[in-house]
Amino acid sequence: MELLNKWIKKIKTAEEARYLIPQNDCSTKILLCGPTYSDITFFGSFLLDAKALKLWAIDHSKNVYSTNKVTQQARQFLPIWLHTVKSDSDNFVTLLDNPMRDVLVPYVFDFYTKGWLKVYCHQCCEEFDSIVDNEHDLLKFGNKSSWTDEWLCHQGHILHHKDHDVRWIVRKKTKGLVL
Ligand SMILES: [Zn+2]
Repeated sequence: MELLNKWIKKIKTAEEARYLIPQNDCSTKILLCGPTYSDITFFGSFLLDAKALKLWAIDHSKNVYSTNKVTQQARQFLPIWLHTVKSDSDNFVTLLDNPMRDVLVPYVFDFYTKGWLKVYCHQCCEEFDSIVDNEHDLLKFGNKSSWTDEWLCHQGHILHHKDHDVRWIVRKKTKGLVL
């Protein structure tokens, strides 16, 4: 019985999971990733242009769905939050909560290629509009691939480093039925 109660409590908690809307307005600069968040793969501070993100966020909230309720609620709140961005808010940086980071961080490289990111290197204390993409160690064995994503500042300091290991699942071709 105790186990059943625990189980019911767990389900109720999951049902009640709700995104807690940030109390602060969003500024023009959003800190997407970096040491402030204790990130283990991002060593530079990646600053995202909130104004550039507005249309992307509307489109993204309509077309991408997460099974995680809280992440999904954060995704749907993002365009509303970005609506609060004032053009004179350049002098402070907005930090993200975890659900909002779950929505945005997977797109860090996309944002970079769109020109919406600036990266601050904590080693040379400089801000960069562009990074040096130093992807390496691409290996393929059968259905396994591995590689290392590495981004550097223009002085050669590591801004991001992540090892990837992927196993590809290949669907077998089915023979057509002959009637
Ligand atoms: Zn540097």
